[in-house]
Formats: sequence, C-alpha cells, structure tokens
Amino acid sequence: MKEKSLLSEARQIQLATELVKLGARLQVLEANTKLSRERLVRLYKEIKGVSPPKGMLPYSEDWFTSWQPNVHSSLFINIYNYMVKYAHVQGIDAIIRSYKLYLEHIEINQLPRVLSLTRAWTLVRFLESKVLSVATCVECNGNFIVHSLEIHSHHVCGLCHVPSRAGKTKKVEAVETVDMGHGDHEHAA
Ligand SMILES: [Zn+2]
Repeated sequence: MKEKSLLSEARQIQLATELVKLGARLQVLEANTKLSRERLVRLYKEIKGVSPPKGMLPYSEDWFTSWQPNVHSSLFINIYNYMVKYAHVQGIDAIIRSYKLYLEHIEINQLPRVLSLTRAWTLVRFLESKVLSVATCVECNGNFIVHSLEIHSHHVCGLCHVPSRAGKTKKVEAVETVDMGHGDHEHAA
C-alpha cells in the first residue's frame, strides 16, 4: 500500500469494518478498499470470530429474477436509485446507505433478510454492466429488476402476478443469506 496517510488508512479500516458487519464477503472488501487481502482477512476474523468463507461468489443474475429475491432486489434498487439521485452519494457509500434502509424496511415489516449485502453489491454491478435492467410494471407502476435481454415493454411484476410456486421459499437461499454458514471454522482465531 503506497498510501502512508494514517487518516486514509483509518477510513479504509472503518469502511471495511462496516462492510463486514453488514455481512459482506471478502471479495466485496477487496474490491472496495485499498487494504491488503491479508489485513482484510485479519479484520474479518477479529469482527466475526471466524475466517471469511472461501471461494468464488456463486451468484448468477438468474437469482435476482426469481420471485422472492426479485421483490427484495427491486426494493433495494429503488432505494439505491433514489439515494444516488437525491442524496448525492455513489459507489460503495450509496450501496451501504441503501442497504441499511433496506434492512430497516424489512425489520419494520418483519420480512426475512433475503438480499445479502454481497448480493446487493453484485446486483449493482449487473445493472452497471447491463446484464440486468429495471422495468416498470404496467399494472402497479413499480420498478422491478429484469433480464436485459427479455422483452419487457409489457412487464407485469411478481407482486401483481404472484406465481403459484411463490410460497415455497427455497431453504438453500435462507441458509445462504446468513453468510456465516460456509465459514472455515477450523482456522478461526
Ligand atoms: Zn406490479
């Protein structure tokens, strides 16, 4: 790290700490701070008490268009777009602030935490690379995440047209969002 400023380093650690507390995976920390991987791993262990999960992020864009994830992802991206437009924040700061508002919203409404911070970050990247887009539902006028390649001039969202299989929440996803489940506990400090 070339940056010698203590203040700059303190800010980096503060940012990384906040991201870890919100459930971010190591890849998110590496992409958004200038701290070395080694230091990030140490920081992660100090905060969580376990090593960060190993391996690549398994996230594909299809997850964001399945029913329940789509409702949560769309909620998040509406908050995010609002923040970018009116609160004049961007990048990881916009993601953190929007994610906190998303958490507040689901806590108030007693909904499960379907969207992890890592997924929220991945979602923004999919939108920036135009793999995913936002389409307006013709029935409720809400904005929802869709595949960019799909024709959505007549998009009807998952809330206006609830599929019959919607009630069956996949257990795998519920475990995934806990974020601690795949940790390498053997090497925990
Ligand atoms: Zn709708």
